[in-house]
Amino acid sequence: MKIYDAIIIGAGIAGLNAAASFGEDKEVLIICKENSWDCNTFYAQGGIAVPYDEEDIQVHIEDTINVGATLCNREAVEILCRDGRVAVDDLIDRGFQFDKGEDGTLHYTKEAGHSRARILHAGGDASGRCMHHFLMQENQHALLYNSTVTDLLIEGEICHGVRVYHKGTFRNYYAKNTIIASGGVGSIYKYHTNARSISGEMQGLILEKGGKLRDMEMMQFHPTVFIHNKGARKQLLTEALRGEGAWIVDEDKKRFLFEYDKRGPLSPRNIVSSSIFDWKKKTHKQVFLSLKNFEKEFFKKRFPTIYFNMKDLGFKLPADEIPISPAFHYAMGGIETNLDGKVLNFKNLYAIGEVASTGVHGGNRLASNSLLEGLVFSKRAVDNICSSKFNFELKVFSQEEEVLVKDGDKVLKDELRELMWENAGIVRKRSKLEQTLQRIDQILEGDIGKLLRLRLKTSRKIVKSAIYRQESLGAHYILN
Ligand SMILES: Cc1cc2nc3c(=O)[nH]c(=O)nc-3n(C[C@H](O)[C@H](O)[C@H](O)COP(=O)(O)OP(=O)(O)OC[C@H]3O[C@@H](n4cnc5c(N)ncnc54)[C@H](O)[C@@H]3O)c2cc1C
Repeated sequence: MKIYDAIIIGAGIAGLNAAASFGEDKEVLIICKENSWDCNTFYAQGGIAVPYDEEDIQVHIEDTINVGATLCNREAVEILCRDGRVAVDDLIDRGFQFDKGEDGTLHYTKEAGHSRARILHAGGDASGRCMHHFLMQENQHALLYNSTVTDLLIEGEICHGVRVYHKGTFRNYYAKNTIIASGGVGSIYKYHTNARSISGEMQGLILEKGGKLRDMEMMQFHPTVFIHNKGARKQLLTEALRGEGAWIVDEDKKRFLFEYDKRGPLSPRNIVSSSIFDWKKKTHKQVFLSLKNFEKEFFKKRFPTIYFNMKDLGFKLPADEIPISPAFHYAMGGIETNLDGKVLNFKNLYAIGEVASTGVHGGNRLASNSLLEGLVFSKRAVDNICSSKFNFELKVFSQEEEVLVKDGDKVLKDELRELMWENAGIVRKRSKLEQTLQRIDQILEGDIGKLLRLRLKTSRKIVKSAIYRQESLGAHYILN
């Protein structure tokens, strides 16, 4: 029986960079659902935040903590910003090309919540796609795609590997270490910007195995999303647009955001999202992203993904205003880990990237800090694994699995997405949260498949955490 040094669940930036950090001499298996590019990393637009220079490290730390609304773990943030510069320089040394300005030096842009320009980008607004492509080209390890991890083979505090569903059959894969890099929870919300494969099942599984999730009420809603395209994944309009001059206006061209915060469109995401929500409700007016400050040729070169995607949807940019709405975007909360990515309560199980909660984002993520988190904490987890002398006797598990999907699950899944959007979304009410909790419990008692059950468990934790936190804080906005 083959025993890998590590199994990595997920082929986004966290999973692929973990694989790269192992080196060729280790036996590593990466597993992902669907195609390797169906991940949030691939869709990241704006770029990666990184301290501009030595002096900026402290400022980046403070910006992250300010936006994180008192919930950040300072130590985690210090690691993110200190190791972040090293991680990005390492990526550049490995051959990755960030965009450069006309003078040939790296071009840094600004996004909301950052007190200076410190976002590096690639391919204009195709930063994630370029990074994913680079990491895939660099990858030396086995990658099993079209494969869903349905169980963690855990006994006591030890994880022996994973059970995988692939082309109609289940198979167990064994490893000395297992790293969960499966991303956030997008698909449990009706409107979201995430890849199809991102559905929060691993978070539910961790709960069933006795692990902990932290800060699950902290869900980030991106303020500028075009939600009228077909398909579950909605069209994001990156924060960098506002950083470089886009306005948010209503039907009367009023820049109403200044009535909520003096930073206007450059306020942190939670403020912009809840202000748009409130303005729409109060005035019954549509809200738009106005790009009129951009010159056409510059716009096409700097934001080609948005230019062409929106062209396909009938918009002529930058002339046309785009109707926008907030949509679910990013999970600050996740599987509770220590600063080396080790999942609490287990000996050889790690979680990195968006699925994890090290406390680095607190109650609200500073824009473009998540790709950086993926790079920094994947490396730390691998360093920890490589320096650890933990040994155990491997146990063989049955390959039998429960039914993954049952008749009727699709309808209930859609109901859950609607409930989560309406009641556990941008603005929450206690009574609605309580009703949602009751309905989730009712569905959980029914005859449902395992994948839906795991989504429901994750959703339940979001709702319970939202009920538990009585005051609005960070991304959690509650009206009693
Ligand atoms: C549209 C968009 C734009 C963004 N822009 C930015 C940006 O500009 N800057 C920034 O810093 N952040 C940005 N973000 C956030 C950032 O992209 C993500 O937080 C980050 O890429 C997450 O990386 P990850 O490796 O943790 O997970 P992902 O890249 O989401 O990868 C998750 C992987 O896990 C796999 N997986 C999931 N469940 C299972 C399972 N059960 N079995 C097997 N495999 C599984 C998936 O197939 C996938 O391969 C953006 C996000 C979106 C959606």
